[in-house]
Amino acid sequence: MKSVWEYISARSKYVLSKKQVMSFVMLLLGIYHVCMLVLFAFAVVYPMVVIDVCSIVLYGFCYVQARKSKNLLLVFNLSYAQILVHSVAGVLLIGEESGYGLFLIALLPLGYYASYNFDSKKQTVNPAFYVIFSALAFFFVKTHGMFMKDSYIHLSKYGTKLLYITNYIVVLIILVMFFSTLLNQIRLLENQQLHQNKKLEKLSKTDALTGLANRRSLQERCEHSETLKSGYAVILADIDDFKKINDTYGHNAGDQTLKEVSEVFKKAVRGEDTVCRWGGEEILVFLPGCPLHNAKYRAGEILENIRKLDITTSDKTCFHVTMTFGVAVSEDGDNFTDVVSKADAKLYTGKQNGKNKVV
Ligand code: GH3
Ligand code: MG
Ligand code: MG
Repeated sequence: MKSVWEYISARSKYVLSKKQVMSFVMLLLGIYHVCMLVLFAFAVVYPMVVIDVCSIVLYGFCYVQARKSKNLLLVFNLSYAQILVHSVAGVLLIGEESGYGLFLIALLPLGYYASYNFDSKKQTVNPAFYVIFSALAFFFVKTHGMFMKDSYIHLSKYGTKLLYITNYIVVLIILVMFFSTLLNQIRLLENQQLHQNKKLEKLSKTDALTGLANRRSLQERCEHSETLKSGYAVILADIDDFKKINDTYGHNAGDQTLKEVSEVFKKAVRGEDTVCRWGGEEILVFLPGCPLHNAKYRAGEILENIRKLDITTSDKTCFHVTMTFGVAVSEDGDNFTDVVSKADAKLYTGKQNGKNKVV
């Protein structure tokens, strides 16, 4: 019951398929015409009995097609045409108080469901045509009815009321069914899009190989960050002789090295820090509010852990790597690029003086 309420409130995570909607509506209309057949047989309204028999055959066919998920647009169009003809006949034969006119108004927007669900490369579904057809039928009935008042078949007062209420309920169910489905579909699509956008945003900020932040995302963060004002440190680290690793153990071993080294960095940082793959084998750590001696200490710790890494290739060869670190902090008047340049200069000094150290 809760899920039905959620569905008709258009707050459901579940959406009925086209097949389910069409099968349900065909079944509903089939049952409705069986009831109407009985009512009109009792009331001896033979033209309506004939129309109902034809309608039952039609909805039987439509139901089978819908269950097979076949020709769903044809099923929709046939039932649309049937409702149109039946409603016109109903109003002309029994009068406005029969409630058949309700169907003509209810049909007006239904083409939008068809357009949303059945429009494809192969077939175009223009909802405006459905609006025009049911509007024309409505005006035909209204104008024709003005001259035909006396030709109505009169049901009993009780029978007419019962007919009107039944027609109203069927119209209500059809409208709720189509429009709640349409709205649930739109909501679901919106949610999927939101989820997809978040995924894409994350991907666009992440380095695919290492899972670290990429250079662009760090630059974006640093350009807009308030934390820059209160001072920060930058550690720029570069794997020593990485080219040799690629040459000796192969490119895959090089990639594996990058991944394992990145994991050491990830484990070493605080929540507010950002580790970023700055270039090929260069990693940058951004440490907001971190003084120089702390940053140097942290770089030293990371270097220790990098030295301890046993990197084992797929053919079981084991090797070790070292890194050189340049550390710098922001001073008054520095922008982010200035601080990175300072760290880069320190890194260069470290490379010149034997590598495998923190400068
Ligand atoms: P140094 O100690 O002076 O830093 O020497 P190095 O060999 O590490 O530096 P160099 O700049 O000469 O070489 C860097 C190499 O890193 C060259 C490039 O092919 C390799 N590289 C860059 N990105 C990747 C990557 O994603 N995967 C692998 N396997 N290698 C990469
Ligand atoms: Mg290097
Ligand atoms: Mg390099």
